[in-house]
Amino acid sequence: MSSNPIELDIAIIGGGSAGMALASKLDNLSAAVFEPKTAAERDSSWALWAQPEQLEQLSPAIRGSWDKWRLIDHSGEVIHQSNEYRYTSLSSGQYLQHCEASLKDSVNLVRAAVDDLTAEENGGQFSADGQAYKAKTIYDSRPPIMGDNSLRQHFVGWEISTKEPITDADIATLMDFRVDQSRGLHFIYVLPYSDRHLLVESTMISNQLEDKDWYRNAISQWLADRNIQMQSQLREEYGVIPMAAVQPQNTQVPTIGAAGGSVRLSSGYAFSTIQAQMATLAEAISAGEREVPAPFSRRLIFMDRVFNRALSAQPDRGVGLFMATSKALDAEEFARFMLGNAGAMEWAKVIMAMPKWPFIQAALRQVFKND
Ligand SMILES: Cc1cc2nc3c(=O)[nH]c(=O)nc-3n(C[C@H](O)[C@H](O)[C@H](O)COP(=O)(O)OP(=O)(O)OC[C@H]3O[C@@H](n4cnc5c(N)ncnc54)[C@H](O)[C@@H]3O)c2cc1C
Repeated sequence: MSSNPIELDIAIIGGGSAGMALASKLDNLSAAVFEPKTAAERDSSWALWAQPEQLEQLSPAIRGSWDKWRLIDHSGEVIHQSNEYRYTSLSSGQYLQHCEASLKDSVNLVRAAVDDLTAEENGGQFSADGQAYKAKTIYDSRPPIMGDNSLRQHFVGWEISTKEPITDADIATLMDFRVDQSRGLHFIYVLPYSDRHLLVESTMISNQLEDKDWYRNAISQWLADRNIQMQSQLREEYGVIPMAAVQPQNTQVPTIGAAGGSVRLSSGYAFSTIQAQMATLAEAISAGEREVPAPFSRRLIFMDRVFNRALSAQPDRGVGLFMATSKALDAEEFARFMLGNAGAMEWAKVIMAMPKWPFIQAALRQVFKND
């Protein structure tokens, strides 16, 4: 390793959603983001409810955008149509490339993994690709450690083309629960990029990961049940998203993104929260502050933990909980709720729609942590 460390004001470890969003907003200080993978190696779908100004900002990475979305179970479907929000799918690879192209001259992208990190106050020393670095502030976004038996959202997705045009190509299906529920809460997620081009994911919310073939079989079965014949499989993605508290890889330096608790615990959505958090952090940095803003209010974290406790205690109620939430809210309210921006009225509607006793038990357990 070189003996003279390169000195930086800010080092960002991990150039994913959070790291690149922050790096692309920094200016006028010496900074570097360290990321071993190329944007193309990181290609998957990141989706969010976007309003018009966000759609414009994210336009280089948008793969599809829908003003209608739905949830389905055996008893029927709830369709939301919004004038304000569009459910929008991004190519993460294109988003990361767009951020990379926006980096200012003072910010470098180092295509290497960080190791040997030694924390010193908010910063520290580390090496990457045999070079030593010393940074006054470090923001660490390396993926967090998830407990083996913790509640997680886990999925396999296939991007496919179809032999025949599909119906309802103008609606994003967020959750189709008409699938095997024997292993935990399970749904199919479908984004129709066109009437012959889809992303289809088999998603589980449970404590145990399945063998990848389990999700693949579920996708095949769902397609067969709808008589949708695949022309070709274009891509496969796999993901595991925490729905419980996580442990950062290094507890001594500030964390951002999923490592800093930016994943919404009850839904697994994180992209919008990370965008907002990184915009606020970049403004703080330009004003001379370095502290990472909290991603969520304490109330929201409490409510999400109660929801997850109720779900974990009685997973067979999961379908009903999500369907009841979507029925209780209109499209705009639902989008705000999923984004973590719901007001008191929206929360009141959701609480009224929930079965009371499981939630009272879950809330008491969360307050007294007696399990
Ligand atoms: C497949 C998938 C799909 C998702 N879809 C959605 C979605 O649709 N909507 C949504 O809101 N959320 C989604 N999420 C959740 C969340 O938005 C993403 O996980 C998001 O990428 C989190 O951003 P991040 O920056 O915290 O982590 P990441 O984007 O995972 O970035 C962490 C980076 O750290 C790098 N790294 C690892 N080790 C080192 C090292 N030693 N040195 C330097 N770098 C290192 C990794 O290569 C990685 O690029 C999804 C997650 C996954 C896994």
